[in-house]
Amino acid sequence: MTIKKHLILSSIFFLLPSIFFLNPNNLKQLFYSEIFIIFIIPVILMISLFLIDKFLYFLLKKNFFYIIIFYSSLLYFSSFFYAFVTKYIFYFQILILLTFFIFTKKYSEIFFKTIIIFFVINLFYLIFNINKSDQTNVISYDDTYSNYKNEDKIDNNIYFIILDGMNSIESMTDNNINLSKKFKNFKKNLIKNDFIYLENSFSSYNTTYLSLASIFYNNYPVNENSNQYPNRDLFFPNFFIKNHNNISLINFLENNNYNFSWIGNNFRPDSLAPQHSLLKNKNLISKYFYQNISLIFLFFENSYIDGILRKIINLKNKNTKNIDNNDAILKLTNFINSKNFHKSSKNYFFVHHIYPHTPFVLNKDCTYKKQVDENFENGYLDNYLCTLNKINDLINLLSKKDPNSIVVLQADHGWELNKKNSQDSQYLFTKDRIEIFNAVKLPEKYKKFATKKLDNVNTSRLLNSIILNVEPNLLEKKTFFGYYEFQNSANYGKVKLYEN
Ligand SMILES: [Zn+2]
Repeated sequence: MTIKKHLILSSIFFLLPSIFFLNPNNLKQLFYSEIFIIFIIPVILMISLFLIDKFLYFLLKKNFFYIIIFYSSLLYFSSFFYAFVTKYIFYFQILILLTFFIFTKKYSEIFFKTIIIFFVINLFYLIFNINKSDQTNVISYDDTYSNYKNEDKIDNNIYFIILDGMNSIESMTDNNINLSKKFKNFKKNLIKNDFIYLENSFSSYNTTYLSLASIFYNNYPVNENSNQYPNRDLFFPNFFIKNHNNISLINFLENNNYNFSWIGNNFRPDSLAPQHSLLKNKNLISKYFYQNISLIFLFFENSYIDGILRKIINLKNKNTKNIDNNDAILKLTNFINSKNFHKSSKNYFFVHHIYPHTPFVLNKDCTYKKQVDENFENGYLDNYLCTLNKINDLINLLSKKDPNSIVVLQADHGWELNKKNSQDSQYLFTKDRIEIFNAVKLPEKYKKFATKKLDNVNTSRLLNSIILNVEPNLLEKKTFFGYYEFQNSANYGKVKLYEN
């Protein structure tokens, strides 16, 4: 092949992933500026490589860099279509390329054959990926609320506050008898502020991504009879990008002129869905910037570049400014204290506070520890006590600034107190893991529905009914155990019913 042909082929390989990305499913959700970004990334990469090529030729009067460009384009292209073996294939390809560099000075027939074999493998993966992207029917939907419009129009602000991994007060009291007075006082303060604390509450699922998805689907999206799901595309928060049109709660709020805002944390950043982020009202440049970050992540998700990007982000996460970003209640508080805030203004705030979940970085007075607490028992307790302080401050603020607000303080799952290590998957299937902190502040006529039936799903349904001013249609309460990827279980993608 001539140099020119190499370069033409290279350009094609660099552009193909962007072209594949623009399938009908993605196109529905993209703006023109985003399509531009998806193409500009490989184009910049190509132009830089071509410039280096010209520069090296100018310097050394030798043409060789085009071969490197060619290999790079192939690697770049291939990396997008290895869903499961990404890491290994990447190293395998590097190894083969190096072998050729070392043992053959020139292109050989074998080399071209190798490339063709890679291609065939890549195309197979592409076909699998196309099937995978069309899996919206794996979960079940419930349209009870989708098209329902409210004529009476209430305007109360709603605060759905998720306290990640927060155990029930009862189990914390049992495990820390010396603190029982403190816990008792906390409960008293809740009740004084018109909250109902729900004892013996259970989450809908044992994992964050499923429980939070169930709130948004107003339903149990997967049960013991559902098909196995291959990934988290249809669940929180990936569904904001991959299944946005089918999110029952979002559609419902839109139909009823409620403004939805998502306040996230480092682990599930609300910048993934800038249209719902509280930051959306900031100036255009930052809005544009946030959009691009999430899009770039999404675009590279299936490629090995994803791992590299995440490593960079993790490095950045080491400084405390980013740890602060986990404090979703603080972000909500700042907003309530700003001039953009109005009481009773048809706002639905979904606040995902990462604590008392790991990282164990907080003292009980909410100052930061010098380093992450390695002691799981102590670390969790301190994070928990800080969270109680945060809740107290928030309910005081709301009683002043938004007295008619409807508030939910609820965990997405509990916490196994005997847990020694965050990766111990055996602790994901215990009663402690699904027994949750649960408290609600409701309008007078809905107080009778505040029972332990209010898991994540039924609470979400109750809130919708309040907006509609109708009798709630609650489901039979259930709890399911699902899996995380890191458990490497053959059962990943299936859930099983918890039977008490
Ligand atoms: Zn969680």
